[in-house]
Formats: sequence, C-alpha cells, structure tokens
Amino acid sequence: DPNLNENYVFSQFIEGDCNRLARSAAIAIAENPGKNSFNPFFVYGGVGLGKTHLIQSIGNKIRQDFGDEFSVLYISSDQFTNEFVHAIRNNRAREFSMFYRNIDVLIIDDIQFFSGKEKTQEEFFHIFNALHQDGKQIIMTSDRAPKDIQDIEERLISRFNWGLSTDLQMPDYETRYAILEKKSLENGIEFEGEIFEFIAHNFKSSVRDLQGAIIKLLATASLQKIDNIDLTMAKRILKDLIKETKKHISIEDIQKMVCDYFGIDPNKVREKTRKQEIVEARQIAMYLSKTMTKSSLKTIGLQFGGRDHSTVIHAINAVEDRQETSPKFRQVVKDIRQRVELAIM
Ligand code: ADP
Ligand code: MG
Repeated sequence: DPNLNENYVFSQFIEGDCNRLARSAAIAIAENPGKNSFNPFFVYGGVGLGKTHLIQSIGNKIRQDFGDEFSVLYISSDQFTNEFVHAIRNNRAREFSMFYRNIDVLIIDDIQFFSGKEKTQEEFFHIFNALHQDGKQIIMTSDRAPKDIQDIEERLISRFNWGLSTDLQMPDYETRYAILEKKSLENGIEFEGEIFEFIAHNFKSSVRDLQGAIIKLLATASLQKIDNIDLTMAKRILKDLIKETKKHISIEDIQKMVCDYFGIDPNKVREKTRKQEIVEARQIAMYLSKTMTKSSLKTIGLQFGGRDHSTVIHAINAVEDRQETSPKFRQVVKDIRQRVELAIM
C-alpha cells in the first residue's frame, strides 16, 4: 500500500508562477523515477501551500503509468520516526532498514520533524545513501529550506541539496482566482465573479484557507437551500474566517520582526549564542510569541532551536520584570509589537 490520497493528482494542481518550477520538476520525476537530475527532490514552503498535494501527485502518476513496476511509499516524517522507534523496541531494526531500502520511490513529508531526532536521522542517512546509490527516487518536503532546519546533521542537509531543492510560494491573485473557480466548478456551483474576486483578495496566506472560504460558502448555500449567493451574503458568511486568518501570527513572523528591528539575522535567535544583544532579542521574541500567539511554552521552545520550556518561562519573566523597571525598554517592546501587528494586517 503506497499510502497515497488519490485526490492529490497533477490535474487538480493549478499551475502558476508560484509553483511552476516545482510542478514541472515533479512531472519530470513521475515520468522517469530515479533516472533524472532531480534526485533527491526537496520541496519547501509554508503551511497549506500545496507541498503534500504536489509530492503525492508524483506517487499517484507513477502508480497510474507504471503500475507495479515501481514500489512507491508516501510517509510523514513523524510516521517514519514512530515506526523506527517501534522497530528498535521490537528488535526489528534490521527489517525496518531492509524494508525502506527496497522502495523505488520514497516520499517523505515534513522532514523538519526530524529535527533533534539523532537516531532517526542516522537511520535515514543510511537509507538515503542506499537508495540514492541504487538510483531510487527520493522526494522530501519541509516547511523551510534545508539550511534553515534546526538540529539536523550537516551531512543530511548537504544531501538534501544534491538534486533539486525548490520552494512553493503562495499563488498570486490570478492563480488564486483559478483555484477558486475550479473548486466551485467541481462542486457544481457557480458564483459571481465578484465573489471570487472578494475571496482572492482576502485570503492571501494559504491555499488551504482559500479553499476553506469557498467550502464554507458551498456548505452554507446547501444548508440554507440558497441557490444564489450574492456578494453581500458572501461577505457576511466569510466575515469571521477573514478575521481569523488575518489575526494569525506565527512565531516565525515574530522572530523576523524582532530581528529586523535589531538588525540581526533571524537564524541567530534560534542558535545557541549567548551574545548579549541576541539574548535580548531572543527573550523579547519568546515573550511576544507567548503573548501574541496561542503557542504553548513547549512549541515556543522548539521553534527557538529546541530549547526547554523553562528557558521560555525565564525569558518571559525577564522581559516582564524589565518592562516594569525601564520605560525605555517598555517602549521598545511596544514598538515591536506594533510592527508585528501592522505586518500581518
Ligand atoms: P501543505 O502540504 O504545503 O501544507 P497541502 O498540499 O496540504 O499543503 O495543500 C493544502 C490544500 O490546498 C490542499 O487541499 C491542496 O489540494 C490545495 N492546493 C494547494 N496548492 C494547490 C494548487 N496549486 N492547485 C490546487 N489546489 C491546491
Ligand atoms: Mg503537508
């Protein structure tokens, strides 16, 4: 069982400038698995931009065109880790390893979750080498570029760049419009062009949210048995969704804004350095992550280079204390907070 979702196919994946290179490489790979210059194929980009859809399309096309000629496996990096841990516990590490070395097309999703998992990384390193040596196709995704993944062995990062590593961007306005049209057509409902325009203008950060908007309209129409939704109704129905997506601030946004403010490299706040100016930026960024997002202390720690939650608590306390004693510092924190708020509007 290749573990593929059959809806994730190329014909459902709308092409645009945002994904042209990744999409054409993906098709080339599907036509010639393993025997192409895109091995490994590494696709990165933010949440909901189509990474999983694209890489599963490769798997589905290979299955369709070649049948059993190639064994294909799609797996998330978390599943891979769990299986590996399970295998070790049951003295089946060798079987685990043999199983993966026999796959022709290995598709691993969200590889950033290998971060900090040394044993898993080592096992994957050996599997990677064996597959690559045998001309088997390896396909991976991550939420960021290889060099930006924290706590991953250098030798793995360098291998990730052996073939093609490319990103997916948020589709531009026209592509968003096309995605909306396609989605509503599939569901047999046509909306006025001005409704597509409205949605395409207001959902700019993830294709998943963009589709969520049209799905909400479709669902509302069907529940309330309305066969003609006009723009005013659409605006009312989508009001809350728009508020939510606009309010969504990520820890990464905060890190970036804080570092912009102090003129330092955003990677620095995720590294272990103890330089005073970086410690200060890191503490402010942790504090804002806690107060401006819904993230847990654990998540915040992880996003700052895998730090412990007690480190995060310490940072938050330090920033709170210092704001009480120093009006100047309080103003700095306030300024940065404002910039973050502005940036996401
Ligand atoms: P990611 O893995 O990057 O988080 P997904 O592949 O899960 O994103 O995509 C989120 C949703 O958006 C899926 O329903 C997917 O089908 C859809 N999607 C993303 N990009 C496109 C595109 N270019 N054309 C059509 N649908 C897309
Ligand atoms: Mg995904």
